[in-house]
Amino acid sequence: MWLFLFILALAALAGLHFRWRAKFQAQREQRAAEMEAFQRKQQQTSLDAQAQQKVLFDSMLEGLLLLDRSRKIYLANRTFKSLFGVKTELRGKTVVEALRLHELDGLLQRAETEKQVLDYEIKLPGLAERWLQVNAAAITNAAGERDGTILVFHDLTRLKQLERQREEFVANVSHELRTPLSLIKGYVETLLDGAKDNPEVAERFLKIIERNANRLDLLIQDLLTISALESGRMKLELSPVDLHALTDKVLTFLHTKAENKNVTLINELPALTMNADANRLDQVLANLVDNAIKYGRAEGLVIVGGKKLADGALEIFVRDDGPGIPAEALERVFERFYRVDKARSRDQGGTGLGLAIVKHIVHAHGGEVRVESEPGKGATFFFTLPQPSI
Ligand code: ADP
Repeated sequence: MWLFLFILALAALAGLHFRWRAKFQAQREQRAAEMEAFQRKQQQTSLDAQAQQKVLFDSMLEGLLLLDRSRKIYLANRTFKSLFGVKTELRGKTVVEALRLHELDGLLQRAETEKQVLDYEIKLPGLAERWLQVNAAAITNAAGERDGTILVFHDLTRLKQLERQREEFVANVSHELRTPLSLIKGYVETLLDGAKDNPEVAERFLKIIERNANRLDLLIQDLLTISALESGRMKLELSPVDLHALTDKVLTFLHTKAENKNVTLINELPALTMNADANRLDQVLANLVDNAIKYGRAEGLVIVGGKKLADGALEIFVRDDGPGIPAEALERVFERFYRVDKARSRDQGGTGLGLAIVKHIVHAHGGEVRVESEPGKGATFFFTLPQPSI
């Protein structure tokens, strides 16, 4: 009897045990499933955050480089890779291994010790000149310990180029102003020293002074025009322009100058009307024809002509049969102050700005300029006016 009761109790206990175990097992499995789901969610959140971070870093205009505690690259954004032309994976490499730029190593060391954002400029090696500004700072955790380093790279190349252009421009302008000014000063002093008492000498000197004062005036006018054109302050006043009539006006204006050199001027432009700024277009044609007379040959021929292109744009040319332009100068004649023969240009009263002004005015009309020349066979300057004719 006792044995029977004992076995019954044992069976009941075993039953209870198996029920608890099954329940416990189910609870454990549920907890494991919940845990797994939580981990998956955490992973997904972390992946999403990483993806967002990547998009954010890749959208930056600056190059970004994050280094870990042992100065190994942890992250390099898209701009950084394109700045340095890197296509391979950089993660895990040191800056020197990745870029071969030893001077950055010194900057990294300083960034780790000096607790401030460092500013540095580097010139990248290579054929084309490239300048970068680098900001470096140590990344610290909440306890103030160094966790890594952040480097931000800005491309300074364009800024440096503009700075150099500005310096060159100022130097050129000063030089161009100084030459006629010192001539004026010199002749005035000589006149005051006694030359004024000889009427013949005085007249010759005064004419030189007048010529140089005119040159200064021309230069200042050209400088003001180019500055207005380059800053975009000059607004075009568009109206229908009869190009044949405008060319006639320009040729009449330059008639005496051409006659002095026995140069024949011909207007071959067909009757075409374009929407353009008449005064500016006058300036373009006058500069080109004036150059053709100045640099063309004595007793030569200067022709202004043009045609309508397939797309409705007009192409106008100014052709001379002078000595032409050497091949290496063709690309440069439109630059400010560039002259093939400096002395000749100054002799002819040139400012070195005429073709730069032509280029700007044509560009403002949406057109293009170019020159074709074979040394000894003259030069032809072309420009287009892309508006539809009216
Ligand atoms: P400049 O005031 O010296 O004439 P431009 O800008 O008008 O300045 O012209 C730049 C240079 O291009 C000139 O100095 C000259 O050397 C060259 N050039 C321009 N037009 C001609 C041409 N028709 N034939 C030969 N050389 C030319």
